[in-house]
Amino acid sequence: MLGKRGAGDDGQQAKKKRRLAGPVEPLNALVHLNKLRPGAQFKLVSQVGPVHSPLFVMEVEVNQQLFQGSGNSKKLAKLRAAELALKSFLQFPDASEAHQLLGRGFLPATADFTSDADVSSSGACRSLFSDFSGGGGTGAGDLNNAGGGDALQQRILSSKPGDKNPVMVLNEIHRGVKYDLLGEVGEKHFKLFNMKVTVGSREFTGSGRSKKVAKYNAALTALKVLHGISQFRSRVNEEKALGGQEPQVVADHMAQLVLTKFGELTNNLSSPHARRKVLAGIVMTTGHEGDSGQVICLATGTKCINGEYLSASGQAVNDCHAEVLCRRLLVKFLYQQLKMFLPNLSPVVSILEPQPDGRGFRLKDGVKFHLYISTSPCGDCRIFSPHDAKTDEGRTPNQISDKHPNRRARGLLRTKIESGEGTIPVRVEGTIQTWDGVLQGERLLTMSCSDKLTRWNVLGLQGALLHQYLPPVYLSSIVVGSWYHSEHMMRGVYGRVAPSLDARLGQSGQSEFRLNRPFLSGVSSPEGRQAGKTPNFSVNWCVGYEGLEVINPTTGKTEKELPSQLTKQAMFRDFLSLYGKIPALDASQGVLDAPK
Ligand SMILES: [Zn+2]
Repeated sequence: MLGKRGAGDDGQQAKKKRRLAGPVEPLNALVHLNKLRPGAQFKLVSQVGPVHSPLFVMEVEVNQQLFQGSGNSKKLAKLRAAELALKSFLQFPDASEAHQLLGRGFLPATADFTSDADVSSSGACRSLFSDFSGGGGTGAGDLNNAGGGDALQQRILSSKPGDKNPVMVLNEIHRGVKYDLLGEVGEKHFKLFNMKVTVGSREFTGSGRSKKVAKYNAALTALKVLHGISQFRSRVNEEKALGGQEPQVVADHMAQLVLTKFGELTNNLSSPHARRKVLAGIVMTTGHEGDSGQVICLATGTKCINGEYLSASGQAVNDCHAEVLCRRLLVKFLYQQLKMFLPNLSPVVSILEPQPDGRGFRLKDGVKFHLYISTSPCGDCRIFSPHDAKTDEGRTPNQISDKHPNRRARGLLRTKIESGEGTIPVRVEGTIQTWDGVLQGERLLTMSCSDKLTRWNVLGLQGALLHQYLPPVYLSSIVVGSWYHSEHMMRGVYGRVAPSLDARLGQSGQSEFRLNRPFLSGVSSPEGRQAGKTPNFSVNWCVGYEGLEVINPTTGKTEKELPSQLTKQAMFRDFLSLYGKIPALDASQGVLDAPK
């Protein structure tokens, strides 16, 4: 950082700079900021999450830049914001230089950076720097007069404001940052690239229609988070992913929609059924102008059925993990939409339309589904230690001294285990799970959510019955509210099957199935761990329902011991209500054709 900029100086000076660039003592960040900017005002931006585990976002304005910090208390959020504001001082010996570098020109381009009389913060900075260098140094003045600093100023002065893009600016602030391609998403006509930029020990991702745009967005995110810089004269507006907005903004928006809906359904989280570990929801976008997304369904839950309650007639819900219930709710929603085409019903507005050849139906152009999960799905997506990356500065993922106990077992199929936490790998050899075995006391094994998501990314979310009427329905994006790691998430939901499936599905061009690569994203303010005991209930809601349905995950029935609306039997009834009354995809099944 600063040390590198001064390369070529004499050793003593370089040494001093390295010390200057050292980490800000977190506990003193507020005190330091107050010294530099007495009375800097902090503002509460938002408060999300349940009462017992809220997440606060605080904001402070310094040098006309906004710095946001988040935390489980207002104090912590303030501290984070102050740290970011302070870092912006540390990156630049003089704040005016920072603004010039960004082409935002709050000062005239001819301003004398080295002048102490400048309206900028150089004087204040000096006291900050002398604090960090033990009180003996002369601080910012030295840095400004150093050779490296002059050269930088020359470059800044010779460039017109707005000429620089985030990639250039990030590179000027942090020399030699590394970009890695994480992967590609989507089909030929709509490809999305994911890039990662590593700045010190932190990683930021960005997506875009080209590698260049993805790189641009990754750098933009890094600048925003590290330095509170977000304004650039963007020349890639038209290329921004997902409805013309930055992917991170869209991801945060999806999360907010689901959290808000959950708040509405739980009386502002005051209902006893607001207690949860994991919340998931599906947002639908139609692509119409002004449509910012609608929550179709949501569910909470982290448990599975007790083996003895398995139902032979499909009257129990076996898997009450939130994201798994969401798939069933989406199917329920799609059945609702299909029922609008039953004969003798007055014409309605549906998100579906008949196929042009009269066989079955399809989603209208532009209709997309986005899954939000408050934490990464159980199974392969969670096989990593979230703190590893922080101690492995500048290394590629392969070089990381990975200490996760399951690191050798990545990419494997895994199962949830009855009355146990977490998942275990599927045994290649060994006994096959049988019903009578489970009834005699073997622990019931249920497919992990990572594995189910992988399956949905190949077969779609609609299931075999609904597939009589609809081609595969895929997720356009998956947004994860905490414990998100782009690399592990990508492997967990499609990466591990890509090598074998791409060859088979991609080349033939015959199959209606494909390997779906949804856009993957975390949120900018990850939610904290939900405190308290895991609730022994799971709730679900779908558009058109009045309130929440509450399931006891141990029995797979509702609280009143009735079958849930999401049982296999309920789904089959939905199917039967359409059978033979609307046109099916496969015309050879004449019986499924609608009567003329
Ligand atoms: Zn799960």
